[in-house]
Amino acid sequence: MMSRELWRKFKAFLMKQILIVEDDEKSLYLARFILDKEGYDVIEARDGLDALDKIAKETPALILMDMQLPKLDGYEATRRIKADERLSKIPVIALTAYAMRGDREKTLDAGCSGYIEKPIDPTTFVEEVKKYF
Ligand code: MN
Repeated sequence: MMSRELWRKFKAFLMKQILIVEDDEKSLYLARFILDKEGYDVIEARDGLDALDKIAKETPALILMDMQLPKLDGYEATRRIKADERLSKIPVIALTAYAMRGDREKTLDAGCSGYIEKPIDPTTFVEEVKKYF
């Protein structure tokens, strides 16, 4: 008999669970809508602390992280994830509102594997996300 914990991890593995950390309702809705439709198991968090809490309970295969977040920003949340050896292998992709070069470097310095620009482009979003699995 498979334990609840093991089943949860197995499901996350099969479904390719994605955690979206985003405080902007429209961006969150759009990202979730697109990824749901593609068959991903989407979970969400609205701020940095909420994100760390979700990651402690779930095992997402990928994290999409807005950088401007209440309570704990995306940079610090990413640094904490990368400092935890249990979590550090989970790719974190920054969702950046500003396509400024300095911002991109800052996300990579914090430990992000890459970034996707907002507003989300529904025609390219899934392909961009798939690159990071
Ligand atoms: Mn934000």
